[in-house]
Amino acid sequence: MRQIFVIALVAAISVLTSAGDPLMYDSIGVRLVRTSLGQNVSYTMLADLCTSIGPRLSGSAEAAKAVEFTKAKMLQFGFANVHTEPVMVPRWVRGKDEAGWYFDGSGARRPLHIAALGGSVGTPKRGITAEIVEVKTWDALKELGTTVKGKIVFFNRSMDRSLPTPGQAYGQAVDQRSRGAIEVARYGAVAALVRSMTTRLDDFPHTGSTHYVDSIPKVPAAAISTNDAETLSALLRSGKSLTIGMRFSSETLPDVESANVMGELVGTMHPEEIIVIGGHLDSWDKGHGAHDDGAGCIHAIEALRLLKELGLQPKRTIRAVMFINEENGLRGGTAYAEAHHPREKHIAAIESDAGGFMPRGFGVSDSAAYQKLVGFTKAFWTLGADHIVRGGGGVDISPLTSRGVPSLGLNVDTQRYFDYHHSGDDTIDKVSEREMAYGSAALALMAYIIAQEGL
Ligand SMILES: [Zn+2]
Repeated sequence: MRQIFVIALVAAISVLTSAGDPLMYDSIGVRLVRTSLGQNVSYTMLADLCTSIGPRLSGSAEAAKAVEFTKAKMLQFGFANVHTEPVMVPRWVRGKDEAGWYFDGSGARRPLHIAALGGSVGTPKRGITAEIVEVKTWDALKELGTTVKGKIVFFNRSMDRSLPTPGQAYGQAVDQRSRGAIEVARYGAVAALVRSMTTRLDDFPHTGSTHYVDSIPKVPAAAISTNDAETLSALLRSGKSLTIGMRFSSETLPDVESANVMGELVGTMHPEEIIVIGGHLDSWDKGHGAHDDGAGCIHAIEALRLLKELGLQPKRTIRAVMFINEENGLRGGTAYAEAHHPREKHIAAIESDAGGFMPRGFGVSDSAAYQKLVGFTKAFWTLGADHIVRGGGGVDISPLTSRGVPSLGLNVDTQRYFDYHHSGDDTIDKVSEREMAYGSAALALMAYIIAQEGL
């Protein structure tokens, strides 16, 4: 009798100290990050993706190689149910010929650092040369009205550098890029030129999606570097008219087949309950797509590998998904949600798409999930990722979020993110191997806690 009582007491204590104990999870976090730092697989894998394949625009040969690359890694690490699922993706190509120029006070032709915006139509073969007009607000454009006819409209509203969160400044400025071409064409302008979306002054043009509507003529749209934007603005301030030129041969080709890639650690107790972790496998065609979003994809693969390496078997299934086509279509995220939900029970989705920087915490989309997870704040102390806040998710998992799946975003220190974002400067040398290792460990720990505790 006494023996049974002791056994029962020990069992009760072990339940009390294991289920839901943030400090137990903190010690798991320590093991995860030490393994991650020590083995350095995150960085090695990301460097391999960046240097052996490089940028991976949807529908490109490089995107196809990245599908094979990540599938091979998942097989190599022994994940379960590794496979690809076909997705038709848009195919926009920049073309080889891309140039911008302006004429200085002496009439000499000077180069501009420009990049066609993703989705832009090309210019005529010889380019477009026209007078430019600078605007900083939509109201200013409206006031100019049809006086911009035949001209190039230059959107030069900077990202607000005083905002503590660069993503917020991006959100406030990016409308110039996404719908500038539509708005200028309404008034008969021949092209749109947009100041790059970064607070840093440098020579890199930052690309990104631009949109058209069928009822308005499609005019070419390009980004220029922030240094060039400052130069053009200064020249315009002198009051003289300024002529610039741009030439590029970008075009949209028919859709092609690509794929989402996935692999799992199957849950030991509730295998039918799924936690998705992932990032987007495609990138823009500049730089390496290292931070955006090679880092997020590798975070997800490495999170699973770390759990496996440490013998941490999740009670629920954790599935790493490499979503294709976030940058110019969201076809991968949409196809995944349509094929898998609600056919399968997703209890959470976590996206990493803010770069391979030091993790700070997680943003949680829904109130009940937030209430539960905030109780595990202490589990993330050692990782420094203990800032668990309301509001989060990610673009790729947004089709799951809108179907009611609690969604999380891995929040990292984003102060440098927009220095590199969508530009030729988003290369592997901008990634810290230690910060990458921390990101993978933080993602592994959050996925593991949800797998053990449910949501
Ligand atoms: Zn991204």
